[in-house]
Amino acid sequence: MNADEPRACTGAPHWHPDTLAVREAVERTAYGEHSEALFLTSSFVQPSAQAAASRFAGEEEGYIYSRFSNPTVDSMERRLAALEGTEDAIGTASGMGAILLLLFGLLKAGDHIVCSQSVFGATIKLIAGEFGKFGVASSFVPQTDLDAWKGAIRPGVTKLLFAETPTNPLTEVCDIRALADLAHGADALLAVDNCFCSPALQRPVMFGADLVVHSGTKYLDGQGRVIAGAVCGTRDLIEGKLLPAQRSAGISLSPFNAWVVLKGMETLSLRMHEHSRRALLLAQWLQAQPAVRKVHYPGLISHPQHALAMAQQSGHGGAVLSFDVQAATPEQARERAFHVIDQTRLCSITANLGDTKTTITHPASTSHGRLSEQQRQAAGISQGLIRIAVGLEHPDDIQADLARGLGTLR
Ligand SMILES: *Cc1c(COP(=O)(O)O)cnc(C)c1O
Repeated sequence: MNADEPRACTGAPHWHPDTLAVREAVERTAYGEHSEALFLTSSFVQPSAQAAASRFAGEEEGYIYSRFSNPTVDSMERRLAALEGTEDAIGTASGMGAILLLLFGLLKAGDHIVCSQSVFGATIKLIAGEFGKFGVASSFVPQTDLDAWKGAIRPGVTKLLFAETPTNPLTEVCDIRALADLAHGADALLAVDNCFCSPALQRPVMFGADLVVHSGTKYLDGQGRVIAGAVCGTRDLIEGKLLPAQRSAGISLSPFNAWVVLKGMETLSLRMHEHSRRALLLAQWLQAQPAVRKVHYPGLISHPQHALAMAQQSGHGGAVLSFDVQAATPEQARERAFHVIDQTRLCSITANLGDTKTTITHPASTSHGRLSEQQRQAAGISQGLIRIAVGLEHPDDIQADLARGLGTLR
């Protein structure tokens, strides 16, 4: 490199994830901008007809068109891949777009997916409904029942295992290593939705997962500003299978949203550790409240997969917890849960999560409202269940906000 050129902004492989989160991106432009540049452009001018031909044929590197190549999106992809410890990543318009691209790029009619029954609701609808329509079969199994996962695999037909850990809202934790071994024993791939922990706490490929999907909308942005998504994995899978699918399908990430997520990742580790610390304090306090029947949080020793969660999640529980209020009947439970939610002044009543602002929701009537009462009970979503995605407000203020309702239950 010439001494006059701006110093590169790319990461070194030996750097710690905290450093890569701040430094890994594409090279600086000739202007030497300190913050990563935002390339809001739909297309790129080619130096010559021959260069255009070579770039379109994939024989020469160079940006062409932002549906599938953009420097800002590339920066976000490189930074996320560095954090997840994967060779490559591809940005998508949303978290659901990431799962759509993954399925679209890897599967064909006649293939079969085994999926946890506790994954994000839209994921179940996408796999069972939309892909079912095109002849991709699927089986849904209990998150933590390894025998059920094993039993659902159809040798030679099952191509993908799909899991999310911890789950929403009950924070059930699955054993990524065990699922990876099952998948690989059947010549299938394991994909993990790592939205809840983010790579700051959990890197699924370290436990054998082949692909990691993200809703960048959640903790990667972390401040509730944009919709974004990504898939991380080997270069073979990302460049070989998903990029061609992206080029045809156009589930593309906007450069602006990529830039917001890119900058969000700089503080990801700090935020996730603080979210987790505050969530643990709140979970411990909730556990001691007489009006609370049960608290679901992987950071609590009482959590059924506490040891596994601590091993997979760098010793942290994450930001999301849920709890059941004490009640004699489902009707009373719902009334009491509504009371606690309605008495808050600080917590935002919204089903979203992954924000600095604490959110509170009643899963049985919102995210899981379309299930029958029987399906809800099977899933463990009671009428008295409240989910909280703990933000970065002072822990005392969040606690006081919940104490108001919990202290005045009738
Ligand atoms: C929100 C979410 C998604 C979907 O992400 P969008 O960006 O809203 O499309 C997928 N998985 C999990 C676990 C989520 O929480």
